[in-house]
Amino acid sequence: MIKVVVDDRKRVLDAAEVKAIVDEAHRVNVRIAAHATSDQAIQVAIQGGVDSVEHGDEATDATFQAMARYGVFLVATHWTAQTLRDIYLPSYRGTPQEAEAAAVRGYLEKSRASLQRALKSGVRIVAGSDMWMRYPGKTRGERT
Ligand SMILES: [Zn+2]
Repeated sequence: MIKVVVDDRKRVLDAAEVKAIVDEAHRVNVRIAAHATSDQAIQVAIQGGVDSVEHGDEATDATFQAMARYGVFLVATHWTAQTLRDIYLPSYRGTPQEAEAAAVRGYLEKSRASLQRALKSGVRIVAGSDMWMRYPGKTRGERT
């Protein structure tokens, strides 16, 4: 399996680029996982023929429906409340505790809603980890 970064904060590959990668990989029975967070990038990944989308954070219902139609798996990489507290919230040091709790609740509500929309659309969801951030006291394989 090869993971292709379809979008990052600077650019989004186009469907022709993704398709060229996918075609070459599939020719030798290698699967392509697409790092795609924006709806645009997820659509590009689907058009390019990827086997899975990692993250899929901003997928619309129509995009989830396209993933289901083309058999593209979703590797949802939503964070747990504990991960948010361990990694994300330390950046909020100095803010009132209630603001932190509200941030966690907001994230979790958005995550649950996204997963429910994916399931309702018929997207096949698989487990995976894409935790690239440093996590105090944990190896990459122990991070969630
Ligand atoms: Zn990723």
